[in-house]
Amino acid sequence: KRLATLLQKAKKHNVCVHIDMEQYALLPITLDVFRRTLLDKRFKDYPHLGIVCQAYLKESKTFLQTLIALAQERGTPFAIRLVKGAYWDYEQAHAEQMGWPCPVFDQKEETDIQYEALLKILLEAYPLVRPLIGSHNARSIAVAMALQDALGLENADIEFQVLNGMAPTLRDALHEKGYRVRQYCPIGAFIPGMSYLVRRLLENTANQSFLVQKDQKNTNYKTLLAPPVVPPLKEKPNLSFKNHSLRDFSQAGHRHSAQDALADIAKNLPQKVLPIINGAPLTPNSTHQTAQQQCPWHTETTVTHATLANTEDAENAITAAKNAQKEWQDLGFDHRATCLEKAATILEKNWQNLFALQVYEAGKHWHEADADIAEAIDFLRFYAQEARTLEGRFQPQSLWGEENTLHYTPKGIALVIAPWNFPLAISTGMVAANLVAGNPVIYKPAEQTTAIGLQMYQALVEAGVPVGALQFLPAKGAEVGAYLTQHKDVNMITFTGSKTVGLQILEHAGKTPENQKHVKKCVIEMGGKNTTIIDSDADLDEAVPGVVQSAFGFQGQKCSATSRVIVIGTAYNTFKERLKEVVSGLAIGPATDPANHINAVIDEGAYAKIKEYIALGKKEGSLLAQAKMPEEVGHFIPPTVFCDLPPQSRLIHEEIFGPVLIIEQAQTLEEAIKMALNSDYRLTGAFYSRNPEAIAYARTHFCVGNLYINKGSTGAVVARQPFGGGALSGTGTKAGGRDYLLQFVEPRTITENTMRRGFAPPLKETI
Ligand code: NAD
Repeated sequence: KRLATLLQKAKKHNVCVHIDMEQYALLPITLDVFRRTLLDKRFKDYPHLGIVCQAYLKESKTFLQTLIALAQERGTPFAIRLVKGAYWDYEQAHAEQMGWPCPVFDQKEETDIQYEALLKILLEAYPLVRPLIGSHNARSIAVAMALQDALGLENADIEFQVLNGMAPTLRDALHEKGYRVRQYCPIGAFIPGMSYLVRRLLENTANQSFLVQKDQKNTNYKTLLAPPVVPPLKEKPNLSFKNHSLRDFSQAGHRHSAQDALADIAKNLPQKVLPIINGAPLTPNSTHQTAQQQCPWHTETTVTHATLANTEDAENAITAAKNAQKEWQDLGFDHRATCLEKAATILEKNWQNLFALQVYEAGKHWHEADADIAEAIDFLRFYAQEARTLEGRFQPQSLWGEENTLHYTPKGIALVIAPWNFPLAISTGMVAANLVAGNPVIYKPAEQTTAIGLQMYQALVEAGVPVGALQFLPAKGAEVGAYLTQHKDVNMITFTGSKTVGLQILEHAGKTPENQKHVKKCVIEMGGKNTTIIDSDADLDEAVPGVVQSAFGFQGQKCSATSRVIVIGTAYNTFKERLKEVVSGLAIGPATDPANHINAVIDEGAYAKIKEYIALGKKEGSLLAQAKMPEEVGHFIPPTVFCDLPPQSRLIHEEIFGPVLIIEQAQTLEEAIKMALNSDYRLTGAFYSRNPEAIAYARTHFCVGNLYINKGSTGAVVARQPFGGGALSGTGTKAGGRDYLLQFVEPRTITENTMRRGFAPPLKETI
């Protein structure tokens, strides 16, 4: 609709509109919109339209042929601008990080070869389409000229395009030879225009670029004009662990399977959840309480109806776990690791159901729902891999006549208490680490997300974890959770949740009654109050979307979410303006529609609490921006940004756990870091800067558990960004990191004097 409005105006004034191509993810939608617009009867005869074809895409030949076929179908020619492509580094890194096939060629030279092949197809298609040649490479230009000549085209049938300031001599030479040359440059607002120009200039002067090579010593025209030859492939990083890849929803197939999953689950609500003790679902009686989870973004829908276990059930679960302890321990690391790996495969196969549950029960956006499943799979596979190498990695030194070995035995009965915000991933990570270590687990999911918790339980049991070694105990945290944390038979507590509850658990676990013959080990991960610092020279094109995603992704309900932004010096006003524009335009609404950036917060309690903070912010500071509310019935809270708050404001110091962001200003980086660290928490932080010295300073002084540089503060990936904080953010050692499993085992060292004095009979088996 927006493009049509633009084209109508263009048509009226006889102006050409050319559609650019950006990242590969936008290609399908760009082509679709272009196609529909071109075939629209209002524009079917309008010739002054064009689109870009990027030669660096592996599928660029098919893309070009599709465009030519479209021109044929339409009957009126349009322009095709053939370029090499501007996002080569980005596409390579992005595909590598997402675990997706790389859409662009591995080598620059392959693009040059493809460019020449596409030139032929493009020029042959004239006059069905108008060829525009967007290159500064003299060889590519020469090939276009030779083809034009060979095909008997006029000089005016093709057009060369050069960037203002890039290659004036080339431009003049083309013009003198009688070719049509179009010189392009950004217009409009000075700063964005200038940054566009600088980016394009930098890109064209990248190391492999023709223009750089041209000016180097020892290069002559013969080598520069020689046909491109593909050099050997550069080596990829050698990874010991491969992450499960995320779904690429820019591909229609993935979108359809997500939509099908959502349609299916809607027919099967509410889901019934019962505690499962020693493999048997509980038979509820009058003493059992229940919990209903309403869909956060459509509160008239009940997603889950759960029966909650009471303390008697908790006792039964402990007894069952104790009975299973020996068998589970004796199975050894390798067997237990295999169970985890099988469970990962089961989760993979069950993607649709898990995805739909995440969207309905937790209110996750599609990307967040998929990421939570991928992370759970990663935890299972990573801890399996680590468990197998655990003893091998940490063996002590032995000398002649003295053999030292280190062995890891399980800690005992483990209680796992999980939060709702990463309902599958965090639960799976904590449960898997305990199980693979050999600890039977009593798993208590959060009351809000018991149906997802049940899916994890079922996958592990189906994968071979004995029913005694894993007890599924949905229950009230404050009652049954608190009861179990004080239980004498619990050896190990693994908790992720709020600071208040975490500290309370530590206090309870610290008391050792007479009949408890061990010290409880606690791995406690708590909240965060995370700051992103924006340097005065930061690239705001990166920083603004980075902050928006970190602050408002999953409605700000992540422990890693950015909730404060401190902007240094002169960037303050510009950053505020740009942030305001983006936040005001964010779309809020049901999570079934991925066009909504923001959905609803988890429940009534969270809704009321966040609203209180917003009311306080309005009283104490200035409201910079707030998105519009949707009409649907749900726990929707619009992303809200405050500035001018007093330094002691609760909004600056307390974890809000919702879409509320505070903007502050500092004069120097030292001051900004000091302000950021003036907090109870030390979980995540982010820093945007283009200054290497400032980055080096931040690396040393911005001491948080996970620091991100020129990247948003959320989205830690297993084995790549081991996750967890210090201060009042947690006691643990980095989930998803190599040391994590050591917390769940009891180390034993055995030293044997192997210098025999006299006769020592061999072991029975070796006789
Ligand atoms: P929460 O503390 O309210 O609940 C967490 C779990 O603890 C739930 O299962 C709950 O039932 C249980 N619980 C509640 N009271 C209890 C008690 N007295 N004794 C024992 N168990 C009890 O937290 P939440 O609202 O589920 O999750 C949000 C919090 O989790 C935020 O503070 C967030 O920052 C934190 N979080 C931290 C991390 C991390 O890795 N550091 C990750 C995710 C979430």
